[in-house]
Amino acid sequence: MMKFTKPSSEGFVVFPPMSTDLVAGSFVHPIMPASPLETPIEYVKGVGPKRAEWLRVELGIHAAGDLLEYLPFRYEDRSKFANVSDIVSDVASLQFRGVITGLQQVGSKRGSRLVARFQDESGSLELIWFKGAKWIASQIPVQQKVVVFGKPTSYQGKWNISHPEVELESAFERRQGLGLQPIYRTTEKLTNRGMATAGIARLIRSWIAQPEFQVEEVLPQALLDELKMPGREEAFRKVHAPKSPEEADWARKRLKFEELLFLQLSLLQRKKEQTRDVPGVRFKAVGDLFNAFYSNHLSFELTGAQKRVMREIRVDVNTGWHMNRLLQGDVGSGKTMVALLTALLALDNGYQACVMAPTEILANQHLVSFRDALEGLPIRIELLTGSVKNAARKPILDGLASGEVNILIGTHALIEPKVIFKTLGLAIIDEQHRFGVAQRSKLWAKSDPPPHVLVMTATPIPRTLAMTAYGDLDVSVIDEMPPGRKLIKTVHRSDAARLPVFQFMEEEVKKGRQVYVVYPLIEESSMLDYKDLMDGYESISRRFPLPEFRLGIVHGRMKSKDKDIEMERFINGTSQILVATTVIEVGVNVPNASVMVIESAERFGLAQLHQLRGRVGRGGDQSYCVLMTSDELSKDATLRMETMCRTNDGFEIAEVDMDLRGPGDLMGTQQSGVPDLKMADLMRDRELLTTARYIASRILEEDPNLENPQHAILNSTLKRVQLGRPDWSRIS
Ligand code: ADP
Ligand code: MG
Repeated sequence: MMKFTKPSSEGFVVFPPMSTDLVAGSFVHPIMPASPLETPIEYVKGVGPKRAEWLRVELGIHAAGDLLEYLPFRYEDRSKFANVSDIVSDVASLQFRGVITGLQQVGSKRGSRLVARFQDESGSLELIWFKGAKWIASQIPVQQKVVVFGKPTSYQGKWNISHPEVELESAFERRQGLGLQPIYRTTEKLTNRGMATAGIARLIRSWIAQPEFQVEEVLPQALLDELKMPGREEAFRKVHAPKSPEEADWARKRLKFEELLFLQLSLLQRKKEQTRDVPGVRFKAVGDLFNAFYSNHLSFELTGAQKRVMREIRVDVNTGWHMNRLLQGDVGSGKTMVALLTALLALDNGYQACVMAPTEILANQHLVSFRDALEGLPIRIELLTGSVKNAARKPILDGLASGEVNILIGTHALIEPKVIFKTLGLAIIDEQHRFGVAQRSKLWAKSDPPPHVLVMTATPIPRTLAMTAYGDLDVSVIDEMPPGRKLIKTVHRSDAARLPVFQFMEEEVKKGRQVYVVYPLIEESSMLDYKDLMDGYESISRRFPLPEFRLGIVHGRMKSKDKDIEMERFINGTSQILVATTVIEVGVNVPNASVMVIESAERFGLAQLHQLRGRVGRGGDQSYCVLMTSDELSKDATLRMETMCRTNDGFEIAEVDMDLRGPGDLMGTQQSGVPDLKMADLMRDRELLTTARYIASRILEEDPNLENPQHAILNSTLKRVQLGRPDWSRIS
């Protein structure tokens, strides 16, 4: 057991009842035997109630175990010393041994700084502090042997180090033999309270050094042997105080693996519960409607990928269990056809279907394509959105209740309680990332047993992320484009090359094609963005004057009715150039549009650029995407432009995007479905994640309820982990 300091009533952790939606942190459930690592953080030696509060607030460290799981993000090799006279570059931090010979406050009150002269056997340099000068001045040991660590910079031909670490040589010597120094992320507040990285390191180090320090194992020994991983206690010891980078890496992998394994066990178990344990309606037969449509109405051959996905779906809707499936496919890959065929399966088996889209424009478009495709078949399709008012609403709702309306298409108006179906068998959700989990579950409740759910998303996400973010959905992928589709040619031009770009637009318009020009309006309220858009619109109007050319404009500040009118003018070809913000991002389908010009393209993320580009290339013509940027680009922006120019493949783009932004941002914020991980990182630890997924499914296949004695340890840990990680159960 570890040593606890005496608890004080102040800041005592109150265990919340189970129903409470925990914000963060682990807690001990009354019926669970407490593990020592679940002890509230203030009882760890050296912490106490005050620091505990700061650790909780600043770093989310609530329990003793959280502190151990707070892994260093890098290590510094503090075994070597440099000489001042040897400094040649400013790339790396260096360590020196010497004496501080003098201190000086320099400059005015506002720009004041503390300057210390440091000297070793070979020469001298200046140490500079711009912040906290007063406090630091009181702490700096003058005329004593010190160790200084920091990154040299050159100023007016002289080397100096700003904000170095300074430590008495005697204290440094005492720490020797620790090998690499772990570096922890910390915050300004913590730093000001003695918990800079060194403070955190000291806390952990002294805890680990206690003879009572002990950590229970959570993985079966056989698995550790198989994967050649260290035990849990050893891993914690080594990750916080490694002798070499290799050792640190080895320990860190084991800990990350453990976290990923429990996440995957959790997701896979839940997936099984949802799919195997929820009875579903059965679409047994392929009936008249499906057959009639397939042989007489379908004007093209399905792609191989569409056929494969249809097979997956057909098996899934006939198992007697509930389908919960994600359909991923790049823009233009033909997801709508899959949705429509699945809807026909529902109708053929006596059920209704609904399609929910994130915007009215999209819902309208689905309505049009469904009605067009199904014309002549005895199917009643209705539209329900926020703008369908009472009088028009009544017959639709009546038709739904009586079963006369077969397919309902709409926005989230569909999930209102007043919308009652006779027998809803299938719910299709388009563009899933716009809908939350809560909304999806409301659709479930519309029928008993719940309708099969098919979620369609045009935002390709990397496979490893899909495994986690959509952990409990089955995933079907359309990874093949309809034939004859030409790749969109993408070029990157600087603002200086605007005239040739205008020239090119003119040529395309004269060929009868249409052009989008998109401006970033990141926040609808941003006056600056809005001005850019308006200025852009004006200069394009001057270059493309009436009556020869007709322009349209669409942005979020317009009334939805005016927006629709402008969109309609573009869709029916009245206007040739549409100046717009990202309101046109999702799903809009104008096959005659062949050019997408994206202004200030550096301000868009990859996923958005790819979405926007997907608005062209929908017809048979060669299409183009022009990325306009300023000359000076950041490294990330350059990589984004290069990636866009190199490939049309959404999955490849998503991989790059995940590298640049991390999985949370990639999926959008709150509803991201990306679990909060303490140690592992979904982006950097892809390989470990794949291993964890594989091992988790192997274990559950063999022992679905983790009942085997050798899995007892997994079972109890999993239950504990799930209690402490409420966000894991909100995924998808
Ligand atoms: P998305 O996956 O972006 O929703 P859509 O379903 O809107 O793509 O399809 C894009 C276009 O491709 C539509 O015009 C559709 O009719 C057409 N299409 C779909 N499948 C095929 C196919 N197998 N062969 C030819 N064209 C197809
Ligand atoms: Mg679509």
